[in-house]
Amino acid sequence: MVVSIKDLDVKEKMQWCPGCGNFGIVSALKGAIADLGLAPHETVICSGIGCSSKLPHYLDTYGFESIHGRGLPVASAIKLANNNLNVISVGGDGDGYGIGVQHFVHIMRRNYDLTYIVHNNQIYGLTTGQASPTSMMGMKTKTTPWGVIEEPFRPLATAINSGATFVARGYAGDPVHLKELIKGAIAHKGFAFVDVFQPCVTFNKINTYPWFQQRVYKLDGTHDVKDKWAAMQKAYEDEKTNYQKVPIGLFYKVEKPTYESQLPQIKDVPLVKHDLKKIDISMAYKELE
Ligand code: SF4
Repeated sequence: MVVSIKDLDVKEKMQWCPGCGNFGIVSALKGAIADLGLAPHETVICSGIGCSSKLPHYLDTYGFESIHGRGLPVASAIKLANNNLNVISVGGDGDGYGIGVQHFVHIMRRNYDLTYIVHNNQIYGLTTGQASPTSMMGMKTKTTPWGVIEEPFRPLATAINSGATFVARGYAGDPVHLKELIKGAIAHKGFAFVDVFQPCVTFNKINTYPWFQQRVYKLDGTHDVKDKWAAMQKAYEDEKTNYQKVPIGLFYKVEKPTYESQLPQIKDVPLVKHDLKKIDISMAYKELE
């Protein structure tokens, strides 16, 4: 199907602060959907709660803004109900790595054919600037006036370790590169995770566009994306170099059977296409007798 970026436009005005990194992410996502020719009526974008979770309102696909931290379980339920759909979940670092972290870890173990994009701005933006799970140590925020004293959550290492079969990191300041990462993630058969550095220009005065511009570099062909241990080392490179070198790109990719492909009930025919009148549930009653 031929889809243009214009087909994905909506009339609603984006409610983000001018200069917010979310603009780069929505533009990269639109470009990826258009380049892949995903039919808008067969594409669903789910989110939780936060600045980034407003994104489903800004693309003319199906959308579901759920509750805090629950974008992924809603996305997995939609996929199980109709595994022919393209399902993409989005959210922020507080939403996905804080309150929703249990879903993040266990959904990766199952390898649903989903794409999960996290707008990682290292702060709670919607609630006006509290420390999030990825805030850097020492960062002063409304909830940490003397500086963060906790270790930051490590999304890439957690994803590689939890069974994600596609693990990447992008930067909202480079939407062209990010679009290619998102295209790869959507095309991948299995759980594809893209963590995106997303400057919050209003509340994060440390991880700014100039901060990233001086530090990010792109992984190239010398990095073997099939090597889990090499991916782990790259995932820790920022910490190891005291945040002087911060890689972006595809860290890890492996092919494994998806969860849906192993369920005999839906592997050939999506659940929504089953004829309910023909399903024999008498055996279930016999089990209960
Ligand atoms: Fe973006 Fe931060 Fe403004 Fe939220 S508060 S819209 S994350 S700049």
